[in-house]
Amino acid sequence: MTDIVVLGSTNMDLVTYVAKAPQRGETVTGREFRTVPGGKGANQAIAAARAGGNVSMIGAVGNDAFGTRLRSTLEHSGVDTDDLRTVEGPSGTAHIVVDDEGGNAIVVIPGANGTLDHLSPGDEGVIASADTLLLQLEIPIAAVLAGAQAARRHDVRTILTPSPAQPLPDELFAAVDLLVPNEHEATTLTGRTDPREAAVGLLDLVPAVVVTLGAAGSLYVSRDTDPVTVPAPEVTAVDSTGAGDTFVGALAVALGEGRPMLDALAWAAEAAALSVQREGATVSMPYRPEIEERHA
Ligand code: ATP
Repeated sequence: MTDIVVLGSTNMDLVTYVAKAPQRGETVTGREFRTVPGGKGANQAIAAARAGGNVSMIGAVGNDAFGTRLRSTLEHSGVDTDDLRTVEGPSGTAHIVVDDEGGNAIVVIPGANGTLDHLSPGDEGVIASADTLLLQLEIPIAAVLAGAQAARRHDVRTILTPSPAQPLPDELFAAVDLLVPNEHEATTLTGRTDPREAAVGLLDLVPAVVVTLGAAGSLYVSRDTDPVTVPAPEVTAVDSTGAGDTFVGALAVALGEGRPMLDALAWAAEAAALSVQREGATVSMPYRPEIEERHA
């Protein structure tokens, strides 16, 4: 089993379904409300654990009911939460309004995630004992940077999902081994709209890049290899929420187990393709036997 540490966010998604989102000053009656555990950190941790990784999560939840549920959701998928802190105050929440055309408007309140602005004593040891560290950008950048630099000190592979898209300090890129943006994030980081040009441009900052391209698969390039596109399986997608996190979690497992990059990308694409055929983010993430059935 490969050891993976995720340093990142946990959020409770508060999802409201309504025919048409209200304008300012308007009150409307919605159709349905759901609370769905999420946050990119937790999503990647669950994806990696289900894909067969030995996963620990460094993060923070609030001392509220959402925090209790977020922790137990991670544990149910086999994620070790010993380093998931419970802090005073609310858990992170994402307030999501989904309309009948599938459009959405989202307000994220970091809550406990906002307290993660540094590593705690012991975190470096947890990172040092792993094969791979997974990072995203839903916690303060100071902790992301500290995590990446700790991983670098201990020769731990660091994979960064640069989401939500934002400009990043060079010192963070300097501590990242593999950057996995989607097309939008690749454009934000480089100003280039062509994914191939963006990926090649990012090689000035990191040694290897995978740009995810939705149904078109992914594009891999490194300082030693020319760009290669790895196709996604053709499937009927019903909900792509969490596809990117499923992809990264599975990719970390495959690389940690020593698969060559292109094989690891194909394996991750099978995992993500399984997730888009089912509703929901974490609930749709596949378990290892399902992935193996499609890609041994
Ligand atoms: P999200 O924000 O929805 O989690 P993302 O924008 O981060 O996703 P995408 O590039 O949309 O990431 O998707 C990640 C991966 O998921 C793709 O590289 C692909 O392997 C898989 N995927 C996404 N959509 C589809 C689809 N319609 N059919 C098959 N595979 C898909």
